[in-house]
Amino acid sequence: MSINENVQRIQQKMQQASEKNFQKKQVQLIGVTKSVSSQVAAELLDAGVTALGENRPEGLTEKQAALGREACTWHFIGTLQTRKVRQIIEQIDVLHSLDRLHLAEEINKRAKRPVDCFVQVNVSGETSKQGIAPEDIHSFLHEIGQYPRIRVVGLMTMAPLTENQDEIRSVFRSLRELRDDVAARKLSYAPCTELSMGMSSDYEIAIEEGATYVRIGTVLVQS
Ligand SMILES: *Cc1c(COP(=O)(O)O)cnc(C)c1O
Repeated sequence: MSINENVQRIQQKMQQASEKNFQKKQVQLIGVTKSVSSQVAAELLDAGVTALGENRPEGLTEKQAALGREACTWHFIGTLQTRKVRQIIEQIDVLHSLDRLHLAEEINKRAKRPVDCFVQVNVSGETSKQGIAPEDIHSFLHEIGQYPRIRVVGLMTMAPLTENQDEIRSVFRSLRELRDDVAARKLSYAPCTELSMGMSSDYEIAIEEGATYVRIGTVLVQS
């Protein structure tokens, strides 16, 4: 199957899944290109994808050199080392992995504008996963208020490593409830209207549960 067919098929499935969500929100597809060449990333753009995601600074730099900064919106989805902030912060449109105050402090120092960030939450509690514990989210956001160049647009999570669909669904649902709690506080620096959740194996469940951004690699780039 071609990249173009992958994009068509996935967009169709996304549409069907969003019809099962009572709010029928618009969902943004982020094409995750971390494991493919710039050539494949270019094919994604040709097929109509408007947002690309990378999880390493080197990958981001390489893809942008090939495609251009203005070719699409750029999403950084991996753990970001504090010492790499300076290198990439002006090169990205959205950070999906704000997971510690020290990172916020460094972004605040280096960025020339308020940066749209998702706070990564470790809903499943797996020790292998990055993210703020759900019970710590409000105190974390309170601290974030001191950094004017951080704008919390939403929450992000990764599903637990399990085949159990109910368990995955309940993790996504918990993140949505947490997002609603934060949004209800109407913090000026944390509108928190968005939900970044869902990857190749679980994006339909994520959309049914209210995802507004899905991050999809494997099933999008396979041939
Ligand atoms: C790799 C990655 C994805 C995409 O995963 P696939 O299973 O290939 O769709 C999404 N989010 C993050 C944070 C990733 O590292």
